[in-house]
Amino acid sequence: MTFDYAPAPESRAVVDIAPHYGLFINGKFVEPRSGNYFKTINPASEEVLSEVSEAGQADVDAAVSAARKAFGKVWGPMEGRDRAKYLFRIARIIQERSRELAVLESLDNGKPIRESRDVDVPLAAAHFFYHAGWADKLAFAGFGDNPQSLGVAAQVIPWNFPLLMLAWKIAPALACGNTVVLKPAETTPLTALAFADICQQADLPPGVVNILTGAGETGRMLVEHPDVDKVAFTGSTEVGKAIQRAVAGTGKKLTLELGGKAANIIFDDAPIDEAIEGIVNGIYFNQGHVCCAGSRLLVQESIQADVLAALKRRLGTLRLGDPLDKNTDIGAINSRDQLTKIEELTESGEAEGAQRWSPACAIPEKGFWFPPTVFTNVTQAHRIAREEIFGPVLSVLTFRTPDEAVEKANNTPFGLSAGIWTEKGSRILWMANRVKAGVVWANTFNRFDPTSPFGGYKESGFGREGGIQGLGAYLAVEDPS
Ligand code: NAD
Repeated sequence: MTFDYAPAPESRAVVDIAPHYGLFINGKFVEPRSGNYFKTINPASEEVLSEVSEAGQADVDAAVSAARKAFGKVWGPMEGRDRAKYLFRIARIIQERSRELAVLESLDNGKPIRESRDVDVPLAAAHFFYHAGWADKLAFAGFGDNPQSLGVAAQVIPWNFPLLMLAWKIAPALACGNTVVLKPAETTPLTALAFADICQQADLPPGVVNILTGAGETGRMLVEHPDVDKVAFTGSTEVGKAIQRAVAGTGKKLTLELGGKAANIIFDDAPIDEAIEGIVNGIYFNQGHVCCAGSRLLVQESIQADVLAALKRRLGTLRLGDPLDKNTDIGAINSRDQLTKIEELTESGEAEGAQRWSPACAIPEKGFWFPPTVFTNVTQAHRIAREEIFGPVLSVLTFRTPDEAVEKANNTPFGLSAGIWTEKGSRILWMANRVKAGVVWANTFNRFDPTSPFGGYKESGFGREGGIQGLGAYLAVEDPS
C-alpha cells in the first residue's frame, strides 16, 4: 500500500518582498548610479519576485570607499569584544527572522523549505555565533599575540546557498576586523538584501557591510578594484581561474572555493540502508546544486546490484514539486541556464553509452525542473564522470579493491570532498589518508559545521572557510592551509 501526502505549504505571507531594491552602501539603500536594474524570479513558477539594481563602476567605487572609511575610522580600531557584540546581535536576528529568511530563500532559489529551514538558515546563524566567539580571542588562535586584520574584503558568492555562503564570507571577515563589500549571485539576491536590512536592525556602523547586486561584470569590477585588500570567491572553476589571473601580483590575499566531482565510496561491509540515505543526501540534497555533492558513486562490485535496487526503491519515494511544501524533497533547478547545462550533460551521458534511469515523477508545467537521475554503465572517460553537472544526477562506477577505489576517486581534476562507507575504522583512516579531498566524510555525507574547515585541492580551489584555519584567511598572517 502506498501513502500519499496532503500538501503542507509554508505560508508565503511571512515575507514582504519589495517590488524594487537599491544597493546597500554605507548603511543605506541607494539607487544605482549605473541606472540599471534586473529582475529576479521564482524558478519554481517563473514569477517575477522583484527588480534589483545592477551595480556599475561608480557604485563599486562608492561601496569600496564606504568600506575603506568604516575600516579606518570604526571597525578596524574597535575592540574585538565590541565587534563580537554586533556578530552576536546579527546571529540572534537571523534566528528571530528564520522563518521569513527560509521562505525568502526557497522563493528566490527554488530549494525545498525543509532544507532552507533546517539547514541553510540555522547554519548561517551558527556561523555568526561561532565567529562572534572568536572576535575577542584572535590572540589565542595560533597566529601570534596580535594578529592584524587585512582591510576591505571583496566577496563574490554563488546561488546554491545564498544566505549560507554570505554567512561563510561575512562572519569571519567581520570577526577579524575587516569590512566587506559582497556581491550575491544574480539569480538569488533577495536574502542578501534581507541581510542588509538585518545589518541596519543590528545598528552595524555604516560601511562595515555593503551589498552590491549585479552579475558577473559587477563581480569582476569588485574583485579588480585597486583599493581592495582581500578577495574571497565561491563559484565555478572557470571564473575562479580568471579571478586568480586578475589578482596575481596585486598583493591582494585570495581564497577560492570552486567546483567538485566528489566520490562517495561504498564498501561491501557498509551498512547498506544508511549508505542509501547517504547517497541520496550526497547528490539529491539541494537538487545536486552542491559543490561538494557526491556525484560519483563508487560502489564495490560485489554489492552493486543490491545497492542499485535499494537506491532505485528509495528514489521512488522522493517528492519533487513546490519548494514551499514541507513534504518536498526535490525543488526547482535554480535557472533556465542551469537546467540547460544539466540537460546537455545528461544527453552526453546517453550519447557516450551510459544508461539513464529516473523514477516516475510528475514534472510541474511551469518553472525549471529535473528528475532525480542515475547513470549506470559509466566509465571514467565519460563527461558525466569528469565534469561537474551541478544537478540531481548520479554517475555510478564500480571497484574491486581499496586501491582501485582510491585511484578512481582521485582520477579527477577536482578535490573538494569524498565519502567513505565501511564498518572498519582502520579502512576509513587508510582511505582518508589517500583520497585527495579537502573534506572526507565517514559513514555520512554533506555534514557542515562552522568549527570545521572547508575547502579544496587542485581545481576545487585553495584556502579554508570555517574553523581556526578560516580565520587565517582574513588576517595578515601566512595562510595555514
Ligand atoms: P559562477 O562562477 O558563474 O558565479 C559565481 C559568482 O561569481 C556569481 O556571483 C557571479 O555573478 C560571479 N561572477 C561571474 N563572473 C565573474 C567574474 N568574471 N568576476 C567576478 N565575479 C564573477 O558560478 P555559479 O554558476 O553561480 O555557481 C556554481 C559553481 O559554484 C559551481 O561550479 C560550484 O561547484 C561552485 N561552488 C563552490 C563552492 C565551494 O565552496 N567550493 C560552494 C558553492 C558553489
